[in-house]
Order: sequence, then structure tokens, then C-alpha cells
Amino acid sequence: MDGMSASNDPTAWKPASLRSKLFIDGQWVDGADGGTIDVINPHDGSVIAAIAEATAADVDRAVEAARKAFPAWSAMAAMDRGRLLLKLADRIEEEQAELGRLEALNTGHPFRDTQILDVPRTAVTYRYFGGMADKFEGSVIPVEAGFLNYLAREPVGVVGQIVPWNFPLMFTSWKMAPALAAGNCIVIKPSEITPLSTLRIAEMMQEVGIPDGVVNVVPGYGHTAGARIAEHPEIAKVAFTGSTATGRTVVKASAGNLKKLQLELGGKGANIVFGDALIPAAVGGSAFAIWHNQGQACIAGSRLMLHESIADAFMEKFVGLTESIRLGNPLDPATEMGPLTSKVHRQRVLDYCAVAREEGGEIVTGGTAPDDPALAAGCYVRPTVVRAKPGDRVCQEEVFGPFVSVMTFRDDAEALEIANGTDYGLGSGLWTADLKRAHKFAGALHAGMVWINSYKRVNPGSPFGGVGRSGYGREMGFEAMREYTHPKSVWVNVDAQIPPYYPR
Ligand code: NAD
Repeated sequence: MDGMSASNDPTAWKPASLRSKLFIDGQWVDGADGGTIDVINPHDGSVIAAIAEATAADVDRAVEAARKAFPAWSAMAAMDRGRLLLKLADRIEEEQAELGRLEALNTGHPFRDTQILDVPRTAVTYRYFGGMADKFEGSVIPVEAGFLNYLAREPVGVVGQIVPWNFPLMFTSWKMAPALAAGNCIVIKPSEITPLSTLRIAEMMQEVGIPDGVVNVVPGYGHTAGARIAEHPEIAKVAFTGSTATGRTVVKASAGNLKKLQLELGGKGANIVFGDALIPAAVGGSAFAIWHNQGQACIAGSRLMLHESIADAFMEKFVGLTESIRLGNPLDPATEMGPLTSKVHRQRVLDYCAVAREEGGEIVTGGTAPDDPALAAGCYVRPTVVRAKPGDRVCQEEVFGPFVSVMTFRDDAEALEIANGTDYGLGSGLWTADLKRAHKFAGALHAGMVWINSYKRVNPGSPFGGVGRSGYGREMGFEAMREYTHPKSVWVNVDAQIPPYYPR
């Protein structure tokens, strides 16, 4: 599979083979309409592959295949389902470099990051839920004497999963691993922009022996394939990750059969640095919080809030670090920041730079595409630091790019007011040496996740998700297993006299 053998230049890598069709019922097939979608390399705008486009009719075919596969898959011993996921985790680790290059080529993630984050995290997610499959237990509930009441957890059936383009490898694992461990069958729609790693994972699933029809991959556009998943009467649950606006559309479309929903939506993470923070750690952590994956992360620390006593010293170091970040071809192992994932999105981020200027924000660094002619054909934007005010659009709206809005605060009360002053509630971080303050903020922040003296930690055991307009439901951990199962309460009369309700 690995095209590196042909050349020693890592940036010349090309996948030796690519899956470019739909994966339905274990077969690689064309879409019903025969259409294709060009998948673009964001580094230079070239076409990597033309993949088959899934339409609503293909989603129907995929749902049918999943329905057919469900009885056997859900009846399989949980340990055996788990064993297949464990094998998959091993396969992913064996192919770490190749998968990382594929992800870098399609998304623009630096290859370096794929090797320390995306691929290892994907593997551990399948491993965690492989191990979970036979450990997710029901319970016995103490009810009145003479009755045994037990709670069983049952898979919901066919689940639809819709994912965005920013972390395709990781996000598909967060969705597919718990769903499969719990015994569900899947119809998954990767983003039309970044389908390649999902198709490769489907191929690996087949290689390790996951039965045909259990997982079906339908890359297609949101308004066709995505919309059909959201409304499909035979899909029992939809797990959606994407923008808040699309999330609303999914909620409306799901009403027909009252689907169970799980929504991971946008964010505008507050990253708060207090006056007593350890500055070197806070600078490094805050840089990772926003610059990782070019800021295209729902949990990005995109609002950097600095206590006025340390703001100047912090900014000097933070801006210095930012300006030293190496932009370049994501396949180059030395690259620290790649291109944004699409041209459309790059323009959106540049438009926000214009908004910042119009609002009177001070662009401290960045704000434009890089000058380097080698990057001119790609979707690059220089990491951008803007001083702004809490009510500004750039402090309220999700830019989803290498763009951080910096604000200062006087005291804890003002910090909390600014931090909680958006509609979103996904992830927030804080840097302080004061334990009392740390816990006070952990409780008071309007967020599904809080990081203290760190930012953006994720682990398959720790629930991931938001509150408010960042959505509801949780990925990862036992919470994810609950999301992918229905509780069933079973009453057994072991030694009770049934009272004569209607004595005659
Ligand atoms: P998006 O909402 O445009 O698309 C997400 C997915 O939904 C894509 O697969 C798309 O094809 C599909 N889609 C589009 N219209 C649809 C419709 N009408 N019905 C069903 N599906 C439809 O988002 P995006 O631009 O791909 O991703 C960026 C957004 O995702 C950001 O807002 C970001 O915050 C959010 N996001 C959230 C999380 C989280 O866990 N909370 C994680 C990553 C990204």
C-alpha cells in the first residue's frame, strides 16, 4: 500500500491503491446515479481521486444491508464482537504511517500530528471499545419483595452516522467503535471532502472479519445522502458531528420516526490564563489549543483570555511561538501546520480576518495567506492572533481556523462572565496554581469538558460532548455505550402474590 518505496521524498508519496467506491453490504459499488465527487489535495488543489457519490437511493440500499446484518451481529457473543475491534486496532497500528499519510494528503493535517495523535487515538478507540464490548453490563434494581427487576442494554438497531471533514479518522472511530461494540449496524457518511480514510478503514474492517452489511460507507453530499440518513424511517438513531446549523436540520428531519439523536456541534472554547499560571506551560498549551489542526477543531481554544497582570508577558511569548510555527506540505515530517481542508473554508477564515479589522480588532500577527510561493496553490492561512472585545463577532462566532481572539480580564468574576458569554458550551480550559479557583471554575463554566492546566485532552474513556448550542449526548466511555443502547427493564415475579385488583 505504501508508495514511499518509490521515492525518498516524503512529499512525493501517493497511495499505492485507493478505495473510491461506496461500501455497501461488503461490496464496493458505484452510486445509483453513477455520479462522482473529486477529492482534492488541499496542499496544491490537485485531484487525489474521483470517488463514487452516494445518493438517497444508495443510503436506502445501505440501510437495507444493515437491517439484514443486524440480527446476527447483535446476537454474536459480545466478546467476539470485541475481538474483531481489537484486531482492527492492531491493523490500524500496523498501518500507522500509511494511514497517517492518507489523512495528511486528504485533510491537510501535518503527517507529524497524525503519528502522535490521529492514528494512535483511532487505534486506542477501537481497542477501548473492543475491550468494552463484554464489560458493559446491565443491572439489578432493588424493587418490591417477590420481584426481580433487571435492566438489560439492547442495541438500538441501524444507526446513521454523519461526520465532518476536520478529523475523519478519529471521529469515525469515536462513532463506529461504541456502536459496533454495543451490537448495532452502521450506515456512515463521511464528509464529501474527506472520505478517503473512512473508506480505507472499511476495507480494514472487512480484512479483520467484520461481517458484510455491519458497516456501510456512503460518501455523498449533505443535502442528499446526509438528509436521507437523517430522515430515514428505518434508522433508529443518528449520531451527528458538524455545525450547529446543520445539527438543527438533522433534528427537524429526524422527527418522522422520532430518532434517538446525538449531536456534537460547534464550539468557541474559552482558554483562560490567570495571573498565577505557570507561563511557559500555559503558552505551549494555549498554542496547541488553537494551532493544532490549523484550528479546525470544535474544541479549539479559540478565545484566549489573559489576566491583565500577565497579558503582555504572555503575548510576547505566545506570538513569538506562533510566528515560528513551520507551515508547509502536510506530508513533510517537519511541517507543524498544514493547509486548511478546503478552498471554501480558507476563504471563510480570511473573511473573518476582514471582519476582525472592521470591528476594530488589532491583528497582532497573521491575517493573510503566507507569502511562500510554494504554498500559493494551497489552502494556507497564517496563524492569526487578534486582540478583540468579548461582544465582537470574532469572539462569538466559530471561525474554525488558525485564528485566535485574545481578550483580557481584571478579576475572576469578569473572567467567568466573558467565558460563559457565548451560546456554545463545548470545551474550556484554565491555567492557574490556585486549586480552589480551579475547582470553582470547573463547576461554573458552561461547558461539557473542562481542562485544568492543560487543554484539549481526550481519551476513549472520558465522555466528550457539549451543552447549549454545542449539542447533546456524549461520545466515548460508558456514556457512549449508553447512547448506542436502549435500557430495557424486565420484571420477573419470583415469589409474589398478585393482589386481587378486582376482588369479586
Ligand atoms: P457541516 O455541518 O457542514 O457538515 C457536517 C456533516 O454533515 C458533513 O458530512 C455534511 O455532508 C453533512 N450534512 C450537511 N448538510 C446536511 C443535511 N442537511 N443533512 C444531513 N447531513 C448534512 O460541518 P462541517 O463544515 O463539515 O464541519 C465543521 C463543523 O463541525 C464546525 O461547526 C465544528 O464545530 C463542528 N464540529 C463539531 C465537533 C464536536 O464534536 N462537537 C467536532 C468537529 C466538528
